[in-house]
Amino acid sequence: MASHATRRPEGRKRSMAVPLLAGVLVLLLVGQLVATLLGVGPFAHKEPAQPEPEQPAVQETRVEDAAVAPSEQAEPAPAPEPVYDPTTDPRNAEFAVDPNRTEWNFDAPETKTVYLTFDDGPSANTQPVLDILDRYGIKATFFVTNINPEYQDMIRECYRRGHTIGMHTYSHDYAQVYASLDAYWQDLGMISDIVREQIGYVPCFIRFPGGSSNTISANYTTGIMSELSQEVVAAGYQYYDWDASCGDGAEHTAEELVEATKADTAYGYQSIVFLAHDGAEKQATVEALPSIIEYFQSEGYTFAPLDRSTCVPHHGIGN
Ligand SMILES: [Zn+2]
Repeated sequence: MASHATRRPEGRKRSMAVPLLAGVLVLLLVGQLVATLLGVGPFAHKEPAQPEPEQPAVQETRVEDAAVAPSEQAEPAPAPEPVYDPTTDPRNAEFAVDPNRTEWNFDAPETKTVYLTFDDGPSANTQPVLDILDRYGIKATFFVTNINPEYQDMIRECYRRGHTIGMHTYSHDYAQVYASLDAYWQDLGMISDIVREQIGYVPCFIRFPGGSSNTISANYTTGIMSELSQEVVAAGYQYYDWDASCGDGAEHTAEELVEATKADTAYGYQSIVFLAHDGAEKQATVEALPSIIEYFQSEGYTFAPLDRSTCVPHHGIGN
């Protein structure tokens, strides 16, 4: 009995201790949960007060990486190339059309000079022409049209690379351009807007479709070239015909274009404004261009873009 009596209180004690212990544990857990939610307890997630200092990149570089490209590690990344702004180009003030500037040169330069000129572009052939000119370090002149409007931005690219921009016409459609004096001026205004958009100003250099000696314009307006040739000069423009051509106005092989160039320049003029085309169908001109350039070099010529001091070539008026 005694053992029975002594066991019972112990048993009762034990049975009371279990809920007590459980209660304490529950309180502790609830307290911890509240503390965690408030962000103060030992298990609360805390952002570090300061980010871990980053290891310098060089310490993470493995030896073999450093051995492959040490210069890349040492040099800063190259700055992006600034966007070309044609309005800051110093040629603008010199080449912009200006009715008050009426001085033009009709005397040949002192050294043998070829002024390569490309008509009827820009087109898909303009880029390869530019690349060939760059390869030889040559500046030329582009008399532009809007025949292929998707290449308008090549006008800016030609100018950016140091070539002169002149205006040929917007439509290059003889029936439209030579329909009347007003029609010509309207067309010139439209190509002027495009060129101004691309290079920031309207240049003084123009070339008539067919040249000033063309007679096809007589089909549309009798005497229009006589009047236009005076009107454009009075307005501050100058028109440039040409002294020689590779003959690419018609369809020829590259070899034929080179031979035509040699035949057409056999007179050995001191100054040659040379007609070629960078229109869409002129792949043969692109193919012939290196040989044409090397031919002129072998004859002692240097190359220059048109400017206000260039010896102006005028054909006789044909209509
Ligand atoms: Zn043309």
